[in-house]
Amino acid sequence: MSKRSETVSRRAVVMGASIAGLVAARVLADHFDEVILVERDRLPTGAESRKGAPQGQHLHALLQRGEQLFEQLFPGIGATLIGGGGIRVDFSRDLAWHHFGAWKARFTSGVDMLAMTRPFFEAEVRRRVLALPQVRCLDDHDILGLLASADRTRVTGVQLRPRHADGVERSLSADLVVDATGRGSATPKWLEALGYAPPAEELVTVHVGYATRTFRRALPSTLPWKALYILGAGANERRVGAMFPIEGDRWIVVLAGMLRDYPPAELPAFLEFARGLPVDDLHRALVGMQPLDDGATYRFPANLRHRYERMPRRPEGLVALGDALCSFNPIYGQGMTTAALVALELGACLGERGLADLPARFFRRAARVIDVPWAMSTLEDFRCPEVTGARPPGFAMIAGLLGRIHRASCRDQDVALHFLRAMHMVGSPATLLRPDILARALLRGGAHTPAPALAVHDPVPAA
Ligand SMILES: Cc1cc2nc3c(=O)[nH]c(=O)nc-3n(C[C@H](O)[C@H](O)[C@H](O)COP(=O)(O)OP(=O)(O)OC[C@H]3O[C@@H](n4cnc5c(N)ncnc54)[C@H](O)[C@@H]3O)c2cc1C
Repeated sequence: MSKRSETVSRRAVVMGASIAGLVAARVLADHFDEVILVERDRLPTGAESRKGAPQGQHLHALLQRGEQLFEQLFPGIGATLIGGGGIRVDFSRDLAWHHFGAWKARFTSGVDMLAMTRPFFEAEVRRRVLALPQVRCLDDHDILGLLASADRTRVTGVQLRPRHADGVERSLSADLVVDATGRGSATPKWLEALGYAPPAEELVTVHVGYATRTFRRALPSTLPWKALYILGAGANERRVGAMFPIEGDRWIVVLAGMLRDYPPAELPAFLEFARGLPVDDLHRALVGMQPLDDGATYRFPANLRHRYERMPRRPEGLVALGDALCSFNPIYGQGMTTAALVALELGACLGERGLADLPARFFRRAARVIDVPWAMSTLEDFRCPEVTGARPPGFAMIAGLLGRIHRASCRDQDVALHFLRAMHMVGSPATLLRPDILARALLRGGAHTPAPALAVHDPVPAA
């Protein structure tokens, strides 16, 4: 944990009490006397999905690095989540993962995640944050805009209004305002109204659609895996299917399609879409299973990054994090982990020099943190020729190498392990360029190297 700054006390206001807002409030509680979360939704007490975070109905993977960060911020949270029904899934021993026309190598990798629903996870994080004596939450309140000093060089608070009837608009002053209102953040617009040029936007358009349903999970399972993940790999294979166990003896099953190949939620069409995946294992697993809901869909147009660190001028007293700063193609599961990483950078900046020049220092550091997951997700997306956005120089070579790494990780445990560690953000992607790993990827990742057949149907290796 970063040390408490001597210079900072008083009040911070966090706009939005979803995962990024909650984790920000947890970090700010180490530096401010009072932290006020302002949230549009009336917050549930339990694990219910809510209107302001509709993505919560869909599969949310918390990467291993994310779990480590949440454990650091909320000691014991992993055990509580497992006690409540979260299920640990080793990403190669327990997960049958089909990609690039083959099943990935299965062995005990130690790279694992807790499978659970997003509302279940969020409810536990929220419970712990709201129990902090410095934190309180004004839920059922809309933020309407920012307050600024007369010369507009400093943000001094927010304007808000309760959503219930006869709610009266009012001002809430703050020494620091943190935007965690997600992808739809109005901060660029509000900054313009204050006379600043808004931050530049980087867009990588993917048009991903999700459809998610839950099913009864019969125990003990007769399936040869704990979780299933099927990804296409080529120009004509843009569909994704995943089936993970979740609390309450249920399966969560998500189907996704890139470039407007949107999956439907209605059961017969949902099953048909699953049948269209590169292998039919998900479809076969679902036939005859008891559906528990009517399903939900979600459409995600583009990876979106706001370049606050490049603004020539910005006001003091205002920062942004979570999806309000950068929102990634959800297929790669990076959002919550990156939000936590960036919140910890905010804590480190406050610990070093308090509020002095905070936005400039924070946005610079946040950009460096975001660069890695941003490169990982957009490079993967760019392999689809129709995905628009600025490809980096040398992209054709990078894409070829990525393909080799993916294919080799079906045949080679070392390559698979380094790939998994990079994907879960516990290892640097640079290790994939180590001469020994690179040589194995090049040697074993050729399109014509035979892959092990039907590894998914082998018994799950012992832990
Ligand atoms: C379909 C889908 C699947 C995903 N899967 C994963 C995954 O597997 N793993 C992962 O790590 N991430 C995943 N993500 C990303 C993840 O959901 C986000 O990165 C994460 O929730 C952090 O978002 P946030 O808190 O910044 O914003 P949000 O979760 O969008 O929350 C913003 C909050 O601000 C509130 N708000 C907005 N405007 C106002 C206002 N004016 N006044 C008051 N309150 C306001 C909203 O009500 C909401 O509570 C997925 C996203 C999608 C869309």
